[in-house]
Amino acid sequence: MPGVNYLHTRLSHLELTTTMTTGIAIFQNAEKAYMENNPQKALDLYQKAIKRIMQKENVLTVMFAQRPRGVPNDMPSETLAMAFRNFCGFLRDPAMNFTEATAPEAYKFLSSFRPNSENKDFARFTSTRGQFLLKCLQISALMTLGILAWDAKDRAKAAKRYKEALELAASEPLLTTAKPAVGLETWVAQDLRETRDNLRMLVQNDESNEEMLRMMGVQGGTTRREEVVVPNVRVEAREGNTPIQQGSVMSATDKCGKCGIRDVKMSRCSRCKKMPYCGPKCQKEDWKTHKLNCVPAA
Ligand SMILES: [Zn+2]
Ligand SMILES: [Zn+2]
Repeated sequence: MPGVNYLHTRLSHLELTTTMTTGIAIFQNAEKAYMENNPQKALDLYQKAIKRIMQKENVLTVMFAQRPRGVPNDMPSETLAMAFRNFCGFLRDPAMNFTEATAPEAYKFLSSFRPNSENKDFARFTSTRGQFLLKCLQISALMTLGILAWDAKDRAKAAKRYKEALELAASEPLLTTAKPAVGLETWVAQDLRETRDNLRMLVQNDESNEEMLRMMGVQGGTTRREEVVVPNVRVEAREGNTPIQQGSVMSATDKCGKCGIRDVKMSRCSRCKKMPYCGPKCQKEDWKTHKLNCVPAA
């Protein structure tokens, strides 16, 4: 997995004329907690800042009207996006060791940004720019969920989240341009690049795993989540023992039953609901062979 791009803002030089209860102020306190080496407190405060802005403030509130010198190009100027960026960066940072188990509340909060989740606060992103901002947050959330799934060794889920992020981006012209604008667009473009790389790597690993299994004489799986047992990998015997190791390989992708191409999600044979195909053409061409062992789903 490529290194996590983790860069905290150092905005203490900015003059703030806010009361302590605004989203900006809570965000500042989160940054302070981070600097003071209190990650749990920082994580909580990032969430508070995000909630505060999404529920009570203008979601497009900006931290600075004019970008101060030294602020990196991928730093959004919208406070909400800034807080979200650092919140996700925190969850992605392996050194922090935040997982679904160690930070369940943060994980649940992050999951509530999946596009199909029933998040009431999404309704507050009404303008065109607001809609765009929401999409950026969702993409970053999906990417982060993918990394967390990958860390938890759930390759199939990781691949699925990455794919969802890329699909969401594909519907957005501002994110498919080669030269994204400074700020929000550049931030998400960077996330998308990493997402694409991570997904590509998962597919490549599936291919090399399959090759390994083939050489061992094991029939590999065609579908995601299909766990293939790697039998009796013999470990060097010592002192008269013959340790036997049982391993397993889980695929992150489906493999077309005809042409062998791999992808996160494919259409399936409507009869057995199991055999994956990249499209109707392959399915049709494969029917003669597949019908011999196509068992109708119950
Ligand atoms: Zn195919
Ligand atoms: Zn079938």
